[in-house]
Amino acid sequence: MSSIPVSHDSPTSKPTSAGKHGKVLAGKIVGIDPGHNGLNHTDPAFLTQQVFNGRTMEDCDTTGTQTASGYTEAQFNFTVATDLRAILRREGAKVVMTRNNNDGLGPCVDRRAKILDDAHANVSIDIHADGGPASGRGFTVLEPLPAGLNDKVIGASDEFGSFVHEAFLADTPFGVSDYYGHDGYISRDDLAGLNLTTMPKVLIECGNMPNAQDAALLTSPTVQRQIARALNAAIVRFLTGHWPPGTS
Ligand code: ZN
Repeated sequence: MSSIPVSHDSPTSKPTSAGKHGKVLAGKIVGIDPGHNGLNHTDPAFLTQQVFNGRTMEDCDTTGTQTASGYTEAQFNFTVATDLRAILRREGAKVVMTRNNNDGLGPCVDRRAKILDDAHANVSIDIHADGGPASGRGFTVLEPLPAGLNDKVIGASDEFGSFVHEAFLADTPFGVSDYYGHDGYISRDDLAGLNLTTMPKVLIECGNMPNAQDAALLTSPTVQRQIARALNAAIVRFLTGHWPPGTS
């Protein structure tokens, strides 16, 4: 994919713009997995069914977390995903999502991975917010470790993850996590979405919902759109070698 060493603020970094041949992401397929679903909490037996995550068996999914005031992670994930989808479509991408509403159940995490694999997405993002200790703040990029199916996309996923990390710092109010991972990164070998991917993919924990300051940001429509724009910037850079116009 992009191996062009373009710095975010380099004077040689020309913004990508729609040329005479069309939009910047024309012909590209982008996968988005908004974690959990709005009715997951209604069916514990569905959630505890066992699925293969590429290494071992695990639960189909969880309910996800929520803020102290009850704003759910599932709603946050879906709102950011739909904001991101709108931007990507304007840029000419075909967008595949693992769920198309927030009032359903599932699909299970293995099925989510397969939906994006079967779509032959060029790159995918799993969108989440964390349920960490209430004192903790910040975002974390979760990157895959080799598990077989994903062996060929580890390096590209790490590169994409670095673009997500850079865009989050530049274009959102969030800093790197002060309670999880290291400098805003962690490698995980126990997640179906990362173990079972055949395209470059990372999972982003955008912030920590139980933390009051992060919660105020995560529930803000303005900040949600900033997050979507940051994710879009990382995707455009990964697929084209350039940051999109308008990113800082
Ligand atoms: Zn989650």
